[in-house]
Amino acid sequence: MGATKIRLCVSEDLGAGQTVPLSRDHAHYLFSVMRLAAGDSIFVFNGRDGEWRAEVTEAGKKTGALLLREQTAPQHMPPDLWLLFAPIKKARTDFIVEKATEMGAAKILPISTEFTNSDRINRDRLQAHAVEAAEQCGGTFVPEVGELSRLDRIISDWPKDRRLMFCDEALVGARASLMAAGPATKWAIVIGPEGGFSDAERTRLQALDYVTPVSLGPRILRADTAAVAALTLWQTVLGDW
Ligand code: SAH
Repeated sequence: MGATKIRLCVSEDLGAGQTVPLSRDHAHYLFSVMRLAAGDSIFVFNGRDGEWRAEVTEAGKKTGALLLREQTAPQHMPPDLWLLFAPIKKARTDFIVEKATEMGAAKILPISTEFTNSDRINRDRLQAHAVEAAEQCGGTFVPEVGELSRLDRIISDWPKDRRLMFCDEALVGARASLMAAGPATKWAIVIGPEGGFSDAERTRLQALDYVTPVSLGPRILRADTAAVAALTLWQTVLGDW
């Protein structure tokens, strides 16, 4: 086994002495790609029970099993922060999901807006990116990636106790900041598509009392950069950094 710590996200409950059967993909990865054998250790998490050291007890080509030894990290939940973003090109959308996971978003919600570039997403593929990012970044939590929903619908059903940080490119260079919001524990960030928000969307968002308009500095950022910048800003001011 190399120096890299192998971490896998599994669905089973985790506890000392428990056996975890491996999926075909995981068995292929561990035994054909990483060349692990019985007796080697990896680390597993499931988003609920922290991280565990697991020993390979069975190593087949398409099957295998792990035996859980001891917990190596407690469960760490991210702050209650959602990221709403309008999907852009495939690779950049993947990037947003990966970065949002690393940055500690609790939920990732693709939205379609008036100027959204892409009207379809592959939710399962994006969810797999979130899993991979969590495995790779040492996290114990995987944010759920939602189906694509329309911004106006989301706004109509919005839970009123959740504040929305509205990243508005029209505020470029302004001083509108997160500090202006009162205390709240539930939050969401909304990032527009490459074409930005329409005037109608901007007017509607600005009128909602749970919305805090925020500027991300004196330059217009691309949507993927804006997502990372907004998450950084929120985590620094209100989050778990
Ligand atoms: N085409 C638009 C820019 C869209 S940038 C224009 O030229 O005006 C994509 C998204 O990133 C925006 O909708 C916004 O949510 C966010 N964004 C980019 N730069 C920003 C900034 N300086 N302040 C706030 N939000 C920004």
